[in-house]
Amino acid sequence: MKEIFVLAEHRQQRLRDTTWDGIAAGRVLAKELGAELTCLLLGSGVDAMALEIAKHCPKVMVVDDPRLANFNSEPYIKTLAAILQGRSSYMLLMGNSNSIMDVAPGLSVALDAALTTDCVGFEFQEGKPLAVRQMYSYKVNALVSFKGAERVVVTLRSGAFPFDPAENAGTVETVACPLTDEPLKKRFVGFVEGEKGDVDISAADVIVSIGRGIGDEEDLDAFEELADAMGGVLACSRPIVDKNLLPKYRQVGTSGVEVKPKVYLALGISGAFQHLGGIKGNPLLVAVNKDPRAPIFRVANYGIVAKLEDVVPALTEKIKELKK
Ligand code: FAD
Repeated sequence: MKEIFVLAEHRQQRLRDTTWDGIAAGRVLAKELGAELTCLLLGSGVDAMALEIAKHCPKVMVVDDPRLANFNSEPYIKTLAAILQGRSSYMLLMGNSNSIMDVAPGLSVALDAALTTDCVGFEFQEGKPLAVRQMYSYKVNALVSFKGAERVVVTLRSGAFPFDPAENAGTVETVACPLTDEPLKKRFVGFVEGEKGDVDISAADVIVSIGRGIGDEEDLDAFEELADAMGGVLACSRPIVDKNLLPKYRQVGTSGVEVKPKVYLALGISGAFQHLGGIKGNPLLVAVNKDPRAPIFRVANYGIVAKLEDVVPALTEKIKELKK
């Protein structure tokens, strides 16, 4: 593959982390394959973002047009297809985000390109890249070959490619917008900010997460106390939100918040893939569960088979003691 492209994602004039995930993965691929790395930035009035990306990527290609001001899959697909059509050997990397799920399939059809989604890594065999995908609820890693395809679209799991912000001086090139006057069938209606809570669990380094295993306990003070002692925040699995014990913005998982902590303490959580899917970046995972066969123990770095009531107060005391 001669060219590696990364699509920059942004919202409200701010780059999203998927951009940096893409550049991190793109650097590895470009180096291994001897390919050129270019970041594609579609938007309107995006000069500042282009300069920010150029600090970390050798080349930024900008398409600036009011119709690209807010994310809309239809002009995105048309613009990307026009840029990539005519190129014979490339890989396009994009985040595996909700927005991109509306772009990647249509774009790969428009380009007659191979598509692999939610990749967590790359391996190389005889100079050819293979994508790593997780299967069967994260139990096995599959190596996906592109079967010789030279045009490939890949979406990347958020947080799977650690980004090194090492600076290099890249160039910015603005290309003419290839969109025609043909009216768009989809339109951007408005931006609705999600509920913002008193804490942002997605930014926390230490998370104490509670699940249905807390039983009928409605007083969460003991768990708050443990989270405080650890210098972390309290989060939860979905049943806790369903019981209205904590707000939705504290729920970790595929239908909740994606978190990237350094330490994740799971208390009375079984380890359903919808929950584990929200835990990114390989934290140190410690699980407390009374069932030794709970699936969470398959992914935990440390497991404590015990009842929460026997562990939580003792752990809090011990941590407080150590901090004295
Ligand atoms: P359970 O699976 O009931 O596990 C409770 C655990 O606690 C058990 O392992 C048990 O052994 C242990 N336990 C019980 N008592 C004690 C005790 N005294 N001491 C120690 N351990 C004890 N879930 C999410 O979390 N986040 C999501 O974003 C999410 N999205 C979903 C989206 C969809 C479309 C669907 C269908 C489901 C989603 N779910 C999500 C729900 C998910 O499938 C699981 O049902 C949920 O994660 C289970 O939560 P849990 O582990 O707390 O409960």
